[in-house]
Amino acid sequence: MAKNQSHDFDVFRRISLLQQIVVQGIFSPGGFLPVWNSDLSDYRDYCVAHCIDRERPGRKIILESWLNIANYCEAQMTNQPAIFRQSFPVGPLQCNCTIIGDPLTRKAFVVDPGGDPDIIMAKLWALDLQVVALIHTHAHLDHFLASGDIKKQTGAPIHLHEEDKFLWDNLEMQCRMFGVPYRPVPDPDHWLTDDEELPCCEGVAMHTPGHTPGSMCFWFARPKLLIAGDTLFRRSIGRTDLWGGDYKAIERSIKQRLYTLDEEATVVTGHGPDTTIGEEIRENSIIRG
Ligand SMILES: [Zn+2]
Ligand SMILES: [Zn+2]
Repeated sequence: MAKNQSHDFDVFRRISLLQQIVVQGIFSPGGFLPVWNSDLSDYRDYCVAHCIDRERPGRKIILESWLNIANYCEAQMTNQPAIFRQSFPVGPLQCNCTIIGDPLTRKAFVVDPGGDPDIIMAKLWALDLQVVALIHTHAHLDHFLASGDIKKQTGAPIHLHEEDKFLWDNLEMQCRMFGVPYRPVPDPDHWLTDDEELPCCEGVAMHTPGHTPGSMCFWFARPKLLIAGDTLFRRSIGRTDLWGGDYKAIERSIKQRLYTLDEEATVVTGHGPDTTIGEEIRENSIIRG
């Protein structure tokens, strides 16, 4: 290796779907050095020799985006676990499904598997993650249509707030109302409670009723990430005219629980684009902070 041979580099790598090693960045004592424009071959041998062997032979570190690399490097400096996150729309109503994983332990959970089980399973497989739970922000049909399929293939237990049990139990009626083909989904295995710690990635469940009685948000303090389900959208909020919806409750949940979080926090919404807490405090046309 020609460049920077004498430095004590940690090289972080990404393994693509084709299992090719792609070096994305190098973490040195002087800081994080991106290598997007470098000659990757200069680092390839070093990566293989040091990164893989030094950590654990054969282990993959999952780094999908620049943010995740930065998180991972910061985590190494502070000895705290980082998280991996990927969100993508699924199912007939394009609910945002999120995979959250720990790149070190490889444990992960799927939030709101609302459809397209094959796509979700392909991503989990490609990322080599072990799913430890299927976690639901609420029990509107579009957020759990694939939960049965994913549970069958991963064995992971289904988590939900008990106050949405009546919606879960009425999936067939919901499907009829929205004109979506019905397939039965097994009962939840675990009732989530307010402030409960999630099974990996240092996540915390927050009970934020209003859109539904059992609506939950999931908060990850270190990466400043909120999964808000249909409680908060970019410049909007979830509807409260469906079964058990309550405007006063959603207003209280958003103002007291969400708008009090770090303003820089990224919000993964139930549908549509991400936003931030600060942006919604200032720009949300329905509930201002
Ligand atoms: Zn909903
Ligand atoms: Zn929804």
